[in-house]
Amino acid sequence: MSTKETIERLVRPGIRALSAYHVPPAAGLVKLDAMENPWPWPESLREGWLQVMQTAVLNRYPDPTAGALQAALREAMAVPDAAQIMLGNGSDELIQMIIQTVAGPGCVIMAPEPTFVMYRQIATVCGLEFAGVPLADDFSIDRARMLDAMKDLQPAVTFLAYPNNPTGNLFDAGVIRALLEAADGLVVVDEAYAPFADATFMSALGEYDNLLVMRTVSKMGLAGLRLGMLAGHPAWLAEIDKTRLPYNIGSLNQLTGVFALQHKPVFDEQAAQIRAARSELAAGLRSIDGITVYPSDANFILFRVGPGRADSLFAGLREAGILIKNLHGSAPALADCLRVTVGQPEENRAFLEALARL
Ligand code: PMP
Repeated sequence: MSTKETIERLVRPGIRALSAYHVPPAAGLVKLDAMENPWPWPESLREGWLQVMQTAVLNRYPDPTAGALQAALREAMAVPDAAQIMLGNGSDELIQMIIQTVAGPGCVIMAPEPTFVMYRQIATVCGLEFAGVPLADDFSIDRARMLDAMKDLQPAVTFLAYPNNPTGNLFDAGVIRALLEAADGLVVVDEAYAPFADATFMSALGEYDNLLVMRTVSKMGLAGLRLGMLAGHPAWLAEIDKTRLPYNIGSLNQLTGVFALQHKPVFDEQAAQIRAARSELAAGLRSIDGITVYPSDANFILFRVGPGRADSLFAGLREAGILIKNLHGSAPALADCLRVTVGQPEENRAFLEALARL
């Protein structure tokens, strides 16, 4: 039997129909595509970090519970005492663990769409049905539609990115509470962009047993670490923890995470700079004719260009050395849409100049 035939026999059609998560090459480009913090560490921090790295014990497995890092994250993210937490190799891994925990026949995973693509991707990889409920035209949650879908489909897990990616907006907190009250399953509020928003459900953890709040250190400035945190009711966390692979947070990551969180004010200051730069970038975009700018509480901005122009503008920007994200073609609601991550002021200026020129 040929390899192609064997693959067709052994790999589920749902997996064969997927594309692997694509990360475009960015060498030599101004990188405004992936919601990273554009500021590298100050020299003083690097030196202190290298000293900590010298203490790493690499012949032994890491602390299996990453106790020191858990404690540092609890404090940094203001997790209520009654909530339990667990850590993942990025919040991507936590999404996978949550879905694996409930995966079974007839299980539905739900989210409003457009949203972060990994909810759908991981549900599909796990062989589950994914129900994407369209957002309203202004990218708010269509309350009645979402509540109806919840009643009809009884999702095991509903994911709500808060703020949402790629649209950048915060959903209405009252609607999220209505969903939490209506849900028989889990509701995960994914707060990946919390450093750039003034809203959180972390303090609501004691109010809803079915609420899980997810955070990551990626957007605050540690995307290279791959570290996410899930907080929720201890009984749920105990179940989800069974899907976690042993030692999923390496020793170097544990040490680096603790060290970085001891210097959290550095990252808070960078987040404040990014928020200020976001306002300038939005104003700059708005001043260009024919562009619709969507409000953002995250470290990126979604904007819509003239009909049929997104592909050529994206390509033109890349020619000019600037990489952003082209969302045109990814979903009907995102026709003619591009997404730019807030960079350093000079990078934002270069982006705006190139866009205005094009
Ligand atoms: N949630 C949302 C809403 C995201 O946009 C992303 C990354 N773009 C993630 C989770 C994953 O973050 P990470 O795995 O880096 O923690």
